Amino acid sequence: MKNNNLMEKIVSLCKRRGFIFQGSEAYGGLANAWDYGPLGVELKNNIKSAWWKNVVSQRGDIFGLDAAIFMHPDVWKASGHANNFTDNLVDCKNCKKRFKLDDLKIEKCPECGGELTQGKKFNLMLETHLGPVDDSAAKVYLRPETAQGIFVNFLNVLNSARPKLPFGIAQIGKAFRNEITPGNFIFRTREFEQMEIEYFVNPKEADKFHKNWIDERFVWYKGLGIKDDNLRLRVHEKDELAHYAKGCTDIEYKFPFGWSELEGIANRGDFDLKQHSEHSAKTFEYFNTADNEKVVPYVIEPSGGVDRTVLAVLVDSYHEEKVKEQIRVVLKLDKKLAPIKVAVLPLLKKNSDIVKMSHAITDDLKTCFTVKYNDTASIGKLYRRQDEVGTPYCVTVDVDSLTDKKVTIRDRDTMAQDRVGIDNLKNYLFERLI
Ligand code: ATP
Repeated sequence: MKNNNLMEKIVSLCKRRGFIFQGSEAYGGLANAWDYGPLGVELKNNIKSAWWKNVVSQRGDIFGLDAAIFMHPDVWKASGHANNFTDNLVDCKNCKKRFKLDDLKIEKCPECGGELTQGKKFNLMLETHLGPVDDSAAKVYLRPETAQGIFVNFLNVLNSARPKLPFGIAQIGKAFRNEITPGNFIFRTREFEQMEIEYFVNPKEADKFHKNWIDERFVWYKGLGIKDDNLRLRVHEKDELAHYAKGCTDIEYKFPFGWSELEGIANRGDFDLKQHSEHSAKTFEYFNTADNEKVVPYVIEPSGGVDRTVLAVLVDSYHEEKVKEQIRVVLKLDKKLAPIKVAVLPLLKKNSDIVKMSHAITDDLKTCFTVKYNDTASIGKLYRRQDEVGTPYCVTVDVDSLTDKKVTIRDRDTMAQDRVGIDNLKNYLFERLI
């Protein structure tokens, strides 16, 4: 399938089936803003919960956090964002289009060949004012990353949870950047969600933990069912690194528009904690009882994007095949990510006993799974609709079900069907879904 074609198909499927809508569509849309619909929000939540389970719940050394989006403006001075979180921007004197002057060093307008203005620095932070008076004293930023919320809570977590080094703090939350060139659907937007860990280690062990985290995070993406061939690691060149960073490796996905970053895993040294010690009223240190000395830990930062993971998972699971001369579209989503786990479909809508039994089964399954009851079309159409949104199992109730108390379960990927007793249905699904 041509790559442009694939992106178009994904965007269209997302709208048609309620994964992702154009933001403010009723008002003509707001460019590069996207709203997650009923199925999109489930998919997104499943990704976030898979991450949280993996890095917080199933470990003992990482603590969760949900910090405020608004932070004291001095935080951004200490972190370097106020001065350095900039992109180099150029305008075309002819067609007036704006471009981000990356290391590509474009000399002419890539759109019309026109002359470009001199590059100028552009800060990506979005600002607003708190309170009724719109003056500079009330100016705050919408955080451009969740990481600083973690750093400024380093001592709070240390003093309340009392962990030993190494330990980490993890957070999922919105971040905002006034990107010059947003685009590629939800890949680059001005409002997005991050999943970040700051893992504090003894400086002597930083290289070892950096490597461990690169491996662990790579394995996590594979565990979402993403194909091996579509994932790779890219080590940053020395000249790409921030002046304080000791090293950074990106996990990249082969998107239809090319290999692009899903997550960066950086060794940030002791830069952040030292900066906050210098700019705040606190000293961000750890007391190592074993050596009886204070240490400013180094930080390993695996920082990923929720929206980019949603896009990678959608692209990777999109599948078309020919069945009985018709194209079957299937989202072969990993079962833990599927927005709907089970669909209950009555074979004969006119038969009120079948409908009643289907509702009873739906209500019972709802206590354990995300379930959808649907009787709005023929069974063939209902199967197709569930395939297209990645529902792993369809349960069909027919006339025989009324007497033999059994239902038919159809598998999304193989389309194989099993006849299972209603009393054993939950077990059957549990074994395969959880
Ligand atoms: P890029 O080079 O693509 O702009 P970045 O290196 O600036 O990304 P980081 O600051 O490392 O990104 O942010 C961590 C993660 O947050 C990224 O790997 C990405 O998944 C996500 N992210 C960053 N900017 C955006 C954005 N504008 N839209 C969506 N996700 C983003």
